[in-house]
Amino acid sequence: MRKTKIICTLGPASDGAEMMRKLISAGADVFRINMSHADPGHVRELVPQIRRIADECRRAVAILMDTQGPAIRTGDVKTDLHLKRGDILELTVRGATSEEAYSVDVNYPDLLNDVKAGDTMLVDNGVIRLLVLEKGADRIRCKVLTPGTLGSRRHINLPGVRVNLPPLTPKDIADVKLGAELAVDYVALSFVRQPKDLDQLRDLLSQNGSRAKVMAKIEDHCAVEAIEAIIQSADAIMVARGDLGIEVPYEELPIIQRRIVKLCARLGKPVVVATHMLESMIHNPLPTRAEVTDVANAVFEQADAIMLSGETSIGAYPEECVRVFDRVALRIERSGGAGYAENAQLEDVRQKTVASAVLLANSLKRGSMIVFTRHGTMARNASNLRPRRAPIFAFTPDEQVRQQLALSWGIYPVRIGFCDDPNATIEAAEAYLREHKLTKTGDNLVIVSDVLAGERRVDTVQLRTAR
Ligand code: PEP
Repeated sequence: MRKTKIICTLGPASDGAEMMRKLISAGADVFRINMSHADPGHVRELVPQIRRIADECRRAVAILMDTQGPAIRTGDVKTDLHLKRGDILELTVRGATSEEAYSVDVNYPDLLNDVKAGDTMLVDNGVIRLLVLEKGADRIRCKVLTPGTLGSRRHINLPGVRVNLPPLTPKDIADVKLGAELAVDYVALSFVRQPKDLDQLRDLLSQNGSRAKVMAKIEDHCAVEAIEAIIQSADAIMVARGDLGIEVPYEELPIIQRRIVKLCARLGKPVVVATHMLESMIHNPLPTRAEVTDVANAVFEQADAIMLSGETSIGAYPEECVRVFDRVALRIERSGGAGYAENAQLEDVRQKTVASAVLLANSLKRGSMIVFTRHGTMARNASNLRPRRAPIFAFTPDEQVRQQLALSWGIYPVRIGFCDDPNATIEAAEAYLREHKLTKTGDNLVIVSDVLAGERRVDTVQLRTAR
């Protein structure tokens, strides 16, 4: 059983029923919907369709809605602009018209205040570099320094500039409300700059009746500077290496990734490593050796999940990409892991109880952990401690908790009704595992559950043998 979870970004290459089925059976655990590109009308149909397909496949699949956030983006172009070195590109704001052969509107009027003649702007993951020549009242005239093809809604980075956009733009607010209505499992906030950005998102979700978990995308120097406080406030973290690798010097990226993964292990928060993991597979059926090594590194660091973006949203080989992730993760997990969880802070009694269960599971040759969890907390506590061999079967009565746990390292989530008598629930869970051939007779079962002590329920750790 693979421990590292796989996130697939959906898009034109993958959001049909047939391909989603293939991705799930190849090993996808989470589907990401990127609101920078997805049409809300389409999302309204897509989310129930994912739920139906996951049910048919009998798999827990989490849905992650990724907001655009305070990102500067170009608008739509009728056809791609093939920009050559030396071409003039005019960036317009507020829908101004341009006489130039190449022009595109930008969603951020303050761009005119943030740049000056002589500055360089980076477009589309830094692929296209533009030199600012001059500014008008509603336009910026630029010279193309590094050629490239500009499609619709490409991101513009201004490294080191604090963009004057609110943490949640009007578009994000509308998208988050849609996510709440569709009961998505996670909402990712792009370009988080400080912990209170996450509070705003959390308030908006709860005002709209959502129990979605909040994921902070770390993608610029502001987030890196406030990283510890952001991890503490977030439910989960994404190392969004696409933008991060432009906003900070790229040689810092591996160091920042490792620091964030280690901090998440210490503070007990799920962490996703994202972007460009199998970039060449957008066009090729096989990964490069360097890509395999990058994936292996994230798996070795014991990130909760690794993420595919363009590879599955617009690539030619979405299913093959998931198979590569699956194969590399399974192999690297067998070879061991970085063990950052050894420094996990155990702050409350429940975390300490789970830690004793993980210690017990690690001392046994063959066995599984079984965790009963109403809100997912006890299961996540177990996952955060990265048990060495034992899979974590997390039983919950709550369907959304089951789906959310699909993102957490090492967890196999199962929905089960809880009986008044905790022992009856344990027996039902054991029967489930037996029927689905997930345990064998004689296996050690390390069980974390509550038991009745008179009127009180107390957390316990038990060791049983599978029948
Ligand atoms: C990233 O920059 O790595 C990322 C995941 O964000 P987005 O795809 O929204 O640009």
